[in-house]
Amino acid sequence: MFANRLNGEEGRFGDLPPLKNKDLSGEVVTRFAPNPDFVLHLGSIRAAILSHDYARKYDGRFLLRFEDTDPRLKKSALEYYEAIRDDLKWLECPWDQEWIQSDRLSLYYEHAVKLLDQGSAYVCTCEREAFSARISRGEPCPCRLKDPATNLDDWRKMLHGGYSEGEAVVRIKTDITHPNPAVRDWPAFRVIDPEKYPHPRVGTKYRVWPLYNIASAIDDHLLGVTHIFRGKEHLTNAFRQGYVYKYLEWKYPEAIHYGRLKAVGFTLSKSVMVKQLETGQVKDYSDPRLPTLAALRRRGYSPNTLRKIVHEMGPRPVDATLSWDNINAADRKEVDRIAHRYNFLVDPVPLDVTGVPGNFEAHLPLHPGQPELGARTLKVNAEGNKARVWLSGADKGLLATSNVLRLMELFNVEVENADASPASARFHSQDYMTARKLGAPLIQWLPEGQRIQFQSVMPDATLATGQAEENVLAEPVGSIIQMVRFGFARIDFKDKSQVEVYYSHR
Ligand SMILES: [Zn+2]
Repeated sequence: MFANRLNGEEGRFGDLPPLKNKDLSGEVVTRFAPNPDFVLHLGSIRAAILSHDYARKYDGRFLLRFEDTDPRLKKSALEYYEAIRDDLKWLECPWDQEWIQSDRLSLYYEHAVKLLDQGSAYVCTCEREAFSARISRGEPCPCRLKDPATNLDDWRKMLHGGYSEGEAVVRIKTDITHPNPAVRDWPAFRVIDPEKYPHPRVGTKYRVWPLYNIASAIDDHLLGVTHIFRGKEHLTNAFRQGYVYKYLEWKYPEAIHYGRLKAVGFTLSKSVMVKQLETGQVKDYSDPRLPTLAALRRRGYSPNTLRKIVHEMGPRPVDATLSWDNINAADRKEVDRIAHRYNFLVDPVPLDVTGVPGNFEAHLPLHPGQPELGARTLKVNAEGNKARVWLSGADKGLLATSNVLRLMELFNVEVENADASPASARFHSQDYMTARKLGAPLIQWLPEGQRIQFQSVMPDATLATGQAEENVLAEPVGSIIQMVRFGFARIDFKDKSQVEVYYSHR
């Protein structure tokens, strides 16, 4: 059983290149560590999928860690913890354990005390500009010379309100002349006024908060992370964190820094997306104009598409480009296999047909490549040899330029008056071969009695409206369908007389 499962996982993730130093570390433990200040988006998929899939490939553990220790500038919100869990489930990245940093402040404090006590860190009370000016010249500030006992006193003052926001930070001692000035004596803990900036989970309980680098450095070690997947913009962080690991005599995990992701036609900047949301430029985080996973999910994209794209990029350090064109091309392959087909007419127009010799039924396959899935039926009932059908507004031009048209899978009609309202035609013949001989265009249609209203929310959030065949009501909400000759979409809402879909692509 065990071997089978492993082989199965190996098969699924077999296209990922082997991990460096995999055998040195025993069990592979990876983590995905989002800040719950927004939902996940296309910029998050590489870290999430690589971290999850490598853990599975080696039968290791995948951790989810919420990094929510900045209640001031990167303020988390309760709704996003759950939204991120939903995003990961949809991405098929289930996690083995979950951690939330705002539950772990006492652990970070313990390590702060240890680092101050052994002289590896100090409490700096310089003004930020004065400190920056000195450090850029490679000069230490006076606080660096304080002894551990004084630093520990100052730390207690930070904790108990002796310093206000901006008046004191704990800095990690580094090489003061490190070639990258951003690495020099970086800040690890700072005061945030809890009354002004309460935390959504722990309220006003804490006034000293760890910065990203110290909290994630401590957690990666304590949680046993062996491999970190992140963008190469994090390289500086690896240098910073290396000092903490050295002072605490820990071994730094294997860090795999992949290339930058460039987006064409959309932004991957979380702050830009948050601003669009706050200013009402987009309705919510699943607005189709956003590249969030919530929006992609709502529009019916397949998570397999994103996984394939990420596997293709792999963990390599080369930069990659993502555009809607390549996402849509990959997604079309995924959804085309499964989507049932239905007729949707945008801006429909009526056509009255005379001389109809009886009632007709058209049987159209749910999927042209998979007849075993069955067919849907459209019925035309002739009353006094007359029947009305509906055509897409875009096909109205064909009425004027064609003599004979074939209503798909139904019968052929001869156009009588294309300009009348409604336009009129005469029954010509039933069989397809006749239409073919005459070169008659094939045209999509709906019968009078089986129409429901539809609206499609388009990628730019505009609405396309019209009529859809009633058979689509057999599909549950959430189904991905193809609106024939219009595009792929996901059913977002329906009742007895209407259906609303979110559009993905042609
Ligand atoms: Zn200082």
